[in-house]
Amino acid sequence: MDFDLSADHELIRRTVREFAEGEVAPLAEELDRTKSFPYAIVEKLGELNLMGIPFPQEYGGGGGDTLAYVLAVEELTRVDSSVAITLCAHTSLGTQPVYLFGDEEQKREWLPRLCSGERLGAFGLTEPEAGSDAGNTRTRARAQDGEWVIDGAKQFITNAGTEISGMVCITAVTGEDGADPSHPKEISNIIVANGTKGYEQGAPYRKMGWNASDTRPLTFSDCRVPEGNLLGPRGAGFKQFLHILDIGRIGVAAMGVGLAQGALDQALAYAKQRRAFGRPISKFQAIQTKLADMSTEIEAARLLVYKAAREKDAKRNFTLTAAQAKLKTGRLAVRCAEEAVQIHGGYGFIEEYPVCRFYRDAKILTIGEGTDEVQQMVIARALGA
Ligand SMILES: Cc1cc2nc3c(=O)[nH]c(=O)nc-3n(C[C@H](O)[C@H](O)[C@H](O)COP(=O)(O)OP(=O)(O)OC[C@H]3O[C@@H](n4cnc5c(N)ncnc54)[C@H](O)[C@@H]3O)c2cc1C
Repeated sequence: MDFDLSADHELIRRTVREFAEGEVAPLAEELDRTKSFPYAIVEKLGELNLMGIPFPQEYGGGGGDTLAYVLAVEELTRVDSSVAITLCAHTSLGTQPVYLFGDEEQKREWLPRLCSGERLGAFGLTEPEAGSDAGNTRTRARAQDGEWVIDGAKQFITNAGTEISGMVCITAVTGEDGADPSHPKEISNIIVANGTKGYEQGAPYRKMGWNASDTRPLTFSDCRVPEGNLLGPRGAGFKQFLHILDIGRIGVAAMGVGLAQGALDQALAYAKQRRAFGRPISKFQAIQTKLADMSTEIEAARLLVYKAAREKDAKRNFTLTAAQAKLKTGRLAVRCAEEAVQIHGGYGFIEEYPVCRFYRDAKILTIGEGTDEVQQMVIARALGA
């Protein structure tokens, strides 16, 4: 088994690390404090060809694999989660459905603009009555005169309400007889472009973390889109979104490793320069065991995330590993952020120190893209329990 990264993978890691440390780190505190969407950073990510890493070059993508994408997400989150989730939701959730299920016309229409970062993609699955129980979609779309007429609401949607948001791919009930026997409703995925009459984005939520990322409720009221905006066959939406969530979990798991590693980096640097009782606190065994445990757990979690990426790239079933990686890394991120704050003492509670932001940003990693409890259900099911 080869644990070394290829030269191409090393290159993307180095490129994103330099960008994150040089261009994101100096702005992260201010963007978080002022809750400002990172437009300039997204533009630069586009220039670096990072807004469509795993998509073919013929559509304007980076032509990379899942591992390359994971490395980029990990390095961004090591410095700032808001920027990372913007890229992650755009790639895994916004652009991915068009690439996987879109016809050639839909791909030609959307992928070049999404992959360049000129426009952001979003995925609208969650609703007020449908979160973990995502199949309980209430949003409806009925076919009429060559159009889909959409009525309903989505909540907690990332990337839908910025000045550069291009489209959201939503799940909607399009009939009562589901093609999937495990699900009685017919659910389909439909593209809705920003600017479509009847599609409104509400005010951004006031969040615990991810403050510089865009998260809003969406409403659809007599919203009409062309029939051709349907993604794939009518009624395939349930299976499609389960597959998208599997893929998305690898990205969010990469965020967990990145955040945990960033917390460790900060904690180690601080412990080496902070003195107490006449010596750097890094010389105290109680601090050393925290650092040692964090580093060991991070390395193990990282391998799990890379394994999930490798399985996907090898076109094997990756549902189990992706859920394990998501479960493991979300919890690890929360724990490492907490330990990093502890090592900073009182300064860890002060916003000038990045670990304070890391602590707030970590918690959502055990909730978004499927809660820990949902991951446990997916894992248990895959085990045959
Ligand atoms: C900042 C942010 C960004 C987000 N971005 C997006 C996005 O871009 N697109 C999108 O579609 N969604 C997005 N979400 C939604 C997110 O995926 C959901 O919040 C998440 O899946 C949980 O759903 P819920 O909030 O409805 O919680 P619920 O499903 O109501 O869960 C509440 C609690 O009950 C538990 N629970 C539920 N069912 C079971 C069960 N069967 N067994 C055991 N426990 C159970 C859950 O684990 C949880 O602890 C985002 C959320 C946030 C906060």
